[in-house]
Amino acid sequence: MKKKFVFATNNIHKLEEVTAILCNKIELLSLKDINCKVDIPETADTLEGNALLKARYIYKNYQLNCFGDDTGLEVDALNGAPGVYSARYAGEEHDSEANMKKLLKALEGIENRKAQFRTVFALILNGKEHLFEGIIKGEIIKVRKGTSGFGYDPIFVPEGYTQTFAEMGNEIKNKISHRAQATHKLCKFLESI
Ligand code: IMP
Repeated sequence: MKKKFVFATNNIHKLEEVTAILCNKIELLSLKDINCKVDIPETADTLEGNALLKARYIYKNYQLNCFGDDTGLEVDALNGAPGVYSARYAGEEHDSEANMKKLLKALEGIENRKAQFRTVFALILNGKEHLFEGIIKGEIIKVRKGTSGFGYDPIFVPEGYTQTFAEMGNEIKNKISHRAQATHKLCKFLESI
């Protein structure tokens, strides 16, 4: 019988990304699948904290093995900002254009453009908590390039590449991204239990 895990998200793209990497011994359920209509608040001040908040909410209320995730863009010259606040850097509207504009402004005149995307998955398995992390290093360029992807993709060039995430397209991005790396670690663990 397949082992079941709840992924504390309703983001169809994230579900597809993890499902594509998982072996067929594992079945993923979304929040919708377990009839959870709550928008679990992300009130922690770290990525680990937010990922755990989501997983703990499901474990406490549904007693199901589960995991949650959180991602942030951490910029060296800004001491790791916007980090856990990446989605709402320029305000509660979660506006990617405004977020990029604010970031480019904050980096005006600054030489060090190094940054990394970091994803954390928090898994709760039979009550025990496990964390998995994926990082991709790169730099923030000065003008937006490319149209695919989302969020900060048009201004992030991963190390070893010349194109932004938004120029290279999802096929390449999803092989090397922070989320892909964290997903691989999580999946390897789930398949080993
Ligand atoms: P989430 O935790 O996956 O919802 O990510 C939080 C925020 O980080 C998003 O709203 C985006 O602004 C940013 N972000 C996360 N992953 C990516 C990515 O792959 N490319 C660009 N921006 C991202």
